[in-house]
Amino acid sequence: QPDRKQSAQLYEEAQRHIVGGVNSPSRSFKAVGGGAPVFMQRAQGAYFWDVDGNRYIDYMAAYGPIILGHAHPHVTEAICTAAANGTLYGTPTELEITFARMLKEAVPSMDKVRFVNSGTEAVMTTIRVARAYTGRDKIIKFAGCYHGHSDLVLVAAGSGPSTLGIPDSAGIPVSIAKEVITVPYNDLPALEAALERWGDEVAAVMVEPIVGNFGMVMPESGFLEGLCRLTRAHGALVIYDEVIVAFRLHYGAAQTYAGGHFPDHAAIEPDLTAMGKIIGGGLPIGAYGGRRDIMERVAPLGPAYQAGTMAGNPASIAAGIACLETLRQPGVYERMSALSEKLAAGIADGALRHGIPLTINRIGGAFSTHFCDHPVRNYEDAQQTDGEQFALFFRLMLNQGICLAPSKYEAWFLTTAHTDADIDATIEAADRAFSAMK
Ligand code: PMP
Repeated sequence: QPDRKQSAQLYEEAQRHIVGGVNSPSRSFKAVGGGAPVFMQRAQGAYFWDVDGNRYIDYMAAYGPIILGHAHPHVTEAICTAAANGTLYGTPTELEITFARMLKEAVPSMDKVRFVNSGTEAVMTTIRVARAYTGRDKIIKFAGCYHGHSDLVLVAAGSGPSTLGIPDSAGIPVSIAKEVITVPYNDLPALEAALERWGDEVAAVMVEPIVGNFGMVMPESGFLEGLCRLTRAHGALVIYDEVIVAFRLHYGAAQTYAGGHFPDHAAIEPDLTAMGKIIGGGLPIGAYGGRRDIMERVAPLGPAYQAGTMAGNPASIAAGIACLETLRQPGVYERMSALSEKLAAGIADGALRHGIPLTINRIGGAFSTHFCDHPVRNYEDAQQTDGEQFALFFRLMLNQGICLAPSKYEAWFLTTAHTDADIDATIEAADRAFSAMK
């Protein structure tokens, strides 16, 4: 086991000043048995080095954004240039237009866009806009889908019970939580029943069109088509939260993901879309957009207010443009998908040889590993996986220099920086981990 004395010491110190020692609860090791998280000092390409000098192959990609690997030269240069020209103006800039055009070209349903600072903000605002447009208050979401930490969507968002209106956090008024109806993902009859009952009060149905928050989960055939049809039949809007999946699987969003998955793009187009993560190239960003007549309800054109001191700042926009320019090169996604296929196959093979039940859901350059012997198609399936086995696997991998997110629900993300040798080393490490787990 590598020495992590410095991390342990920093964790002690951090806990004195920062709540729980971390600035986002997902970074704590609470879900994998506790103890000091690893304090990283430097990152380059597919690797991290911690404060004790240990090296790790990174499959977290910072929960998604770092798709080009760390400190990609094109992105770094764009950030440096932007910083040298001033990081924040409080005025519009031309680059914002360039970037809005790039997003629209890749995701045509976003006829008009607005940049914000995080995925949370983007999602939160789509809900306000949908409410402003429909004059209704309720939303329907799917159990286990995480849409950021704003009041309304922190209901059945990854850990709480999937029942009507029970918040996952203290501090959310019951009056707000009861505006949220939660149904199981991939379950059209449940959505239909909810719409039958509350349809004329529902402003929007919010969904991760491809799920990234209880593992990677594809919508089953007809699910998104049915969702769009039923939602519109009840006069509600369809909102896609593409914060994780936009530009993760191909140059575009889940709603434009071809690959044989969505033959009829038009039938699954949302009214509003929220994005974040990858589109900031590693700097803070969020974006939302959609149908022109809906988006024109936003201030200064319309009565739905949304603003931001940091919104559309030159550094995030420049990093986002540089990131998308790099992703747009031919072969980029094919390569990540091939590496992910090889890695997932190697891990599956190792688990099988050591008799460890493992379900892998792979979509392009992302996959999730669930310690169970059933398919994972909704949140309940994902909950019924072995968290203790995952925790053990997580630590056995970490001790061999492989960095995964410390939660059984998170995906593995490939980046353009990973090499074949990284994949081989990771498959070997997984094999040793499975052997130790028996
Ligand atoms: N939506 C989805 C689908 C997400 O995965 C996340 C973050 N994991 C968010 C929204 C919130 O984004 P942020 O953390 O940037 O606020």
